[in-house]
Amino acid sequence: MLDNQTSPFDFKGQVAVVTGASSGIGVQMSMALARQGADVALLARRVEKLETVAKEIRKLGVKCVPVKCDVTDTEAVKAAVETVKTELGRCDVLINNAGGNKGGASAEFSDEDWNFVVELNLTSVFKVSREFGKLMIEQNYGRIINIASMYGIVGSGLDCTAYHATKAAVNNMTRSMAAEWAKHGITVNALCPGFFISELTEELLTTESFQAWLKTVCPMNRHGEPGELDTATLFLAAKGSSYCTGVILPIDGGYTCV
Ligand code: NDP
Repeated sequence: MLDNQTSPFDFKGQVAVVTGASSGIGVQMSMALARQGADVALLARRVEKLETVAKEIRKLGVKCVPVKCDVTDTEAVKAAVETVKTELGRCDVLINNAGGNKGGASAEFSDEDWNFVVELNLTSVFKVSREFGKLMIEQNYGRIINIASMYGIVGSGLDCTAYHATKAAVNNMTRSMAAEWAKHGITVNALCPGFFISELTEELLTTESFQAWLKTVCPMNRHGEPGELDTATLFLAAKGSSYCTGVILPIDGGYTCV
């Protein structure tokens, strides 16, 4: 419980771990937590990019540790937990954000591409949660936020069946882990972003035809802007959100409400 003096969004003394923090949404969420005082561990494969983000974050007066980690590699994930323990001491908030996509018509989609998407978007979320979850269980405290997608809630005609399947599975994994780990003081929730421009989506989102289509399917008539996931992230990460677990929260300009 919070005392009456503390801001519910004061993260000083807390440690956040963000996967996929070398670009896109992961950078935004890492910065949002650091601005509220959290020390942050940034996980991804491209170390140079992580170093650049870490430099910016340290300017906010918090500790920031870049950790090279392929989230599909169990040993690398275990090593990342040890690095976080050594460098930052604990893990209060885990954001499972690393992800990607391979598109293609289902009838032509190879086993290799299917397995790639499942390993990256689903299995890695389980592995990273399992390994950092052990630490959270020891602490008897944790906030896990899985970055799924609005395409974990609805389908589309975008020829991305593997992506849709994995994100829907992440949403139900969220509910299952939330129920299992409630007794350990750990909440597990999912954010389901709509369209945000990033390395993953830039090519598609910046075409005129896509923007025209978006106006017809999204009540807000537009894609999300940088920072529009920040408040939802802070809400789910906050100590005071202790009775909120198993929630699947779309931040999608209303795409899934129509
Ligand atoms: P980006 O491509 O910008 O970011 C993906 C991040 O994941 C990068 O930091 C990348 O880092 C990391 N990553 C990829 N593979 C691995 C791996 N094997 N191990 C560790 N890190 C990895 O895309 P977004 O920011 O858009 O995507 C972030 C998340 O948000 C994804 O899960 C995506 O599905 C989800 N999302 C995005 C939406 C959007 O419109 N942008 C909408 C809905 C959901 P590196 O290459 O350095 O390892």
